[in-house]
Amino acid sequence: MKFTFVTLFSNLVAGYFQDSILKRAIDKEILKIEYLNPRDYSQNKHMKVDDTAVGGGAGMVMNPQPLYDALDALKKDDEDVYIVFVTPVAKQFKQNDAKRLAKKNHIAFVSGRYEGIDERVIEEYADEVFSIGDYILTGGELASLVICDAVSRNIEDVLGNSDSLSVESFETQLLEAPSFSKPKDYKGNCVPSEYLKGNHSKIRSLKLELSECKTKFFRPEQLLKHRTRKSYEK
Ligand code: SAH
Repeated sequence: MKFTFVTLFSNLVAGYFQDSILKRAIDKEILKIEYLNPRDYSQNKHMKVDDTAVGGGAGMVMNPQPLYDALDALKKDDEDVYIVFVTPVAKQFKQNDAKRLAKKNHIAFVSGRYEGIDERVIEEYADEVFSIGDYILTGGELASLVICDAVSRNIEDVLGNSDSLSVESFETQLLEAPSFSKPKDYKGNCVPSEYLKGNHSKIRSLKLELSECKTKFFRPEQLLKHRTRKSYEK
């Protein structure tokens, strides 16, 4: 799977791939990361990529020309590239999207900066647009990395243990039960005793109960959805 980051600031992105799971996936040639800088395509004599907003409004907007040319070059190189724009003005990215996008061969993430990207670029090139949540970041690089990370761990062999995928939060509409490591007693705080007794069916039912508690507390509407679905399945 190839990811291309279309960004004015590739250094902000590159650091993330220098360690841990995604680095290992790159070393094993499961993932390939490339960068494309719209500034390299600017026809402005000062290599400018932004200008004031037409029709007024605060701040600068990224111009169409450098992005059109950069994305044309990208598509010329791979006509099947799937182009994703990150913007707060979109539906929120979810775990289901991560699983769906993990089946693509090549995804390009286009990161905005300043007040965002000229809408005509999005209209012309977006296969999909995502927000990562209801807050405004200074740029799209973090949002692109969030999506790339979530997609990557659904690609075969990226995670050492593929079991970890099926029991995670959002796979079941319930949030995951709390996890514990060793020692059993740390500074007087103990792991729930049922976890220690080795009766797997009891552990499973305790974990389900704890999952429901977490979901009820943090996402009550999600618990309702889960229960409705369960009752239809019966
Ligand atoms: N003026 C815009 C915000 C621009 S923020 C507005 O009010 O909608 C600059 C860039 O950061 C955006 O172009 C986008 O690429 C990125 N960005 C900011 N917040 C984001 C979010 N919640 N999700 C995805 N991308 C975001």
